[in-house]
Amino acid sequence: MTANILFAARSELWAEYETPLHAALDAAGLDCRLATEMPPETVDYIVYAPNSAVQDFAPYTRLKAVLNLWAGVEGVVGNTTLRVPLCRMVDEEGLTQGMVEWVSGHVMRHHLGMDAHIVNPDHRWDPVAPPLACDRPVTVLGLGALGSACARMLRGLGFAVTGWSRSEKRISGIRCLHGDDTLATALRGAQVVVLLLPNTPSTQDVLNASSLALLAPGAFVVNPGRGALIDDDALLAALDSGQVAHATLDVFRIEPLPKDHPFWAHPRVTVTPHIASETRPPSAARVVAENVRRGERGLPFLHVVDRDAGY
Ligand code: NDP
Repeated sequence: MTANILFAARSELWAEYETPLHAALDAAGLDCRLATEMPPETVDYIVYAPNSAVQDFAPYTRLKAVLNLWAGVEGVVGNTTLRVPLCRMVDEEGLTQGMVEWVSGHVMRHHLGMDAHIVNPDHRWDPVAPPLACDRPVTVLGLGALGSACARMLRGLGFAVTGWSRSEKRISGIRCLHGDDTLATALRGAQVVVLLLPNTPSTQDVLNASSLALLAPGAFVVNPGRGALIDDDALLAALDSGQVAHATLDVFRIEPLPKDHPFWAHPRVTVTPHIASETRPPSAARVVAENVRRGERGLPFLHVVDRDAGY
């Protein structure tokens, strides 16, 4: 039987995904029709991304699953017309690897104090060696696909890593805490905090005035998660007081970050334009194909979103 797959992600992505998707579906031995347009009542799977033209899933009467190309699903998770499994992207070779590299690099920049040597207009000779990573407590908020991979990498570099999640985790060498009651313990004394939580009602403003005050004075904040995880005004106040020495921010409440936002001008904020990582077509296509294969065989889909939890 032929499965019909509608590519309903943004049209400019079609050029990047068409060939890898065909290759991955062929390699999985699947007989599929893949197109950017087809009658809704014939569609079995939708490959999806935020800002898709498809916002009403009701006409897709034989739909088996929506396969999101991105890890974050806040743009679609609340869609009440969607009544089939929603799968998010977990792409270890591409998305996860990219995030591990980005987080490691930015944490190491702050840990080693690289800025003082890269920009040194007064040619100061200040021979203070950085501490060893084992003396630098790092907390990773979120221990999912991305957070756990980053936590492991940071642990591998020698940092004293604490991770925080909703459900209980066990990761070798990492102090794993879970649940709202342990957030303060996870943050208290942290010199670096990395945010890799999804944007849900229960994670918004997780870094606010009172939680920022728990960090070690002069801590570093690294946020590749979502802008809504941080109370912007509280972060600016913490930067101005010195409680936070530097914030490296990849994601914002409004993107692109408005030109007049104080983060742009702040000397101790690094803004990166939501590039911490991205889904890579070849490896992501294999994840999509595997889920279509599972759907066609009646097997459980991978990476199904918990619609009630919002991620
Ligand atoms: P996962 O769903 O795999 O992991 C999310 C983690 O957050 C889980 O450990 C989960 O806990 C934890 N969590 C969720 N809600 C809470 C809560 N209320 N309290 C404590 N912990 C909570 O997501 P990914 O790791 O794949 O991605 C994380 C986020 O990274 C994405 O949602 C997206 O926002 C962002 N992202 C950013 C990119 C960028 O380029 N800047 C690229 C890709 C993703 P549990 O394990 O118990 O479920």
